Amino acid sequence: MLTKNKDSKMQGKRGSNGGDFAYAIAQEGLLIPELRATLKGRVIAPGDAGYDEARTVFSGGIDRRPAMIARPVDATEVSRVVSLARETGLELAVRSGGHSAAGHSVSEGGIVLDLREMRALHIDAERCTAWVEMGLTAGEYTSAAGKYGLATGFGDTGSVGIGGITLGGGIGYLARKHGLTIDSLLAAEIVTADGQLLRVDAKTHPDLFWAVRGGGGNFGVATRFQFRLHEVSTIVGGMLILPATPEVIASFIAEAEAAPDELSTIANIMPAPPMPFVPAEHHGRLVVMAFLVYAGAVESGARALVPFRALATPIVDMLRPMPYPEIYPPDDASYHPIAAARSLFVDAVDRRTAETILNHLQVSTAAMAVTQLRVLGGALARVPVEATAYAHRKRRIMVNVAALYERLEDAAVHEAWVADFAAALRQGVAGVYVNFLGNEGAARVREAYPGSTWERLAAIKARYDPTNLFRLNHNIPPVIE
Ligand SMILES: Cc1cc2nc3c(=O)[nH]c(=O)nc-3n(C[C@H](O)[C@H](O)[C@H](O)COP(=O)(O)OP(=O)(O)OC[C@H]3O[C@@H](n4cnc5c(N)ncnc54)[C@H](O)[C@@H]3O)c2cc1C
Repeated sequence: MLTKNKDSKMQGKRGSNGGDFAYAIAQEGLLIPELRATLKGRVIAPGDAGYDEARTVFSGGIDRRPAMIARPVDATEVSRVVSLARETGLELAVRSGGHSAAGHSVSEGGIVLDLREMRALHIDAERCTAWVEMGLTAGEYTSAAGKYGLATGFGDTGSVGIGGITLGGGIGYLARKHGLTIDSLLAAEIVTADGQLLRVDAKTHPDLFWAVRGGGGNFGVATRFQFRLHEVSTIVGGMLILPATPEVIASFIAEAEAAPDELSTIANIMPAPPMPFVPAEHHGRLVVMAFLVYAGAVESGARALVPFRALATPIVDMLRPMPYPEIYPPDDASYHPIAAARSLFVDAVDRRTAETILNHLQVSTAAMAVTQLRVLGGALARVPVEATAYAHRKRRIMVNVAALYERLEDAAVHEAWVADFAAALRQGVAGVYVNFLGNEGAARVREAYPGSTWERLAAIKARYDPTNLFRLNHNIPPVIE
């Protein structure tokens, strides 16, 4: 047990007092040696070798200096770190893969609970289930499961952590065939604010199991997930680049909506990158860079892709049968983009919407401006809206607009551009997928949880985290009923 409030000077200075005091505690050495003595996992403090690397997150432009970074090796150690945060009032950041766009996985002056050392994965190929700890990325899990011809669906990027993507929902290349990541979540182990380790599933703590399927990191620290695995071995898909005209964009979306559930698509409208496989005359010109995955028989997959290839003469056509894990090529660990971004749902992308997209992309002054269109539906839409805390099941298309830029002082220009662009695209009721939210304020977090979802989450939060210990996230404040 860690010593509680050793120094009476700490009283009254805890909580939202900012980084200086926390840093002073660390400097005084009141907490770090003690934590080191109780954990097998590493505790990294300012001045230690590797501190700067350890506090770096995926998103560029985030430069926070935590008082300590604890890397527990098991759930008991996770519980000790959670208790330390509760007892000291230091801000707690929880990190799995470090890809939070809002930078929520690193704290200024607080504690980072970094789950990277917890990497156990047990696959039961006969039962088609897997237990996995939070240090694994989507890509690592997918290549391990791929050895058995099995998969659980995550997102479009291999380096994203299992922890964050699952707790927010998980929308990727198997979404129309097998649903969201949370639709394959069978059970979870969660350390709650009081330090207890709870196993949650449909029968045990069903309220918490409902909440962690979309409610993000608000309810505790997930230490393990049990997933259902699906038979997915060879898929047909890959990259298809088409010229970006209003007709091609609108028809692409129409075809993606009409396609069988086996086919999930992600279409990026962006300047063609100067890559060797892209003919030089297209470099820098707006194209539709689409990624398609048909998770079914190869012959039917080839047939399902015909309409997409026929939309225009492809600039690049890399569609082919491939082992599913190849959808995650290696990521560049040194890539830390600064981005202004907005995400929303729309009901349709017709020719006029496509023109709006092209017009906005053309006037951006960012190093790279991109619009991503994801056609939803299929299996993810067949789960009842109230079954999980992800409640956008009926929304048809997700749109993400982003400006990637280099100088932080240009932030206001690019933030204004994404705000204008999102307003021009808006259709129907407001809504946003929580995992694509940046630091956009409390009203936007509310938009992530439509209808009665918000009230239900706030009540469950009050049950499991009444003091809002887990607050460095897209926060759902506790509401005592
Ligand atoms: C390049 C890129 C591509 C992406 N593509 C997709 C995509 O295709 N589909 C999709 O659905 N999402 C996608 N995302 C969004 C991604 O799902 C979220 O950013 C997610 O939160 C990242 O998870 P992480 O574990 O890597 O991040 P972290 O930064 O480690 O975690 C994010 C937050 O989640 C919470 N959290 C994480 N782990 C735990 C845990 N074990 N227990 C409790 N709380 C925890 C914490 O609040 C934390 O601050 C993408 C993000 C990026 C940067």
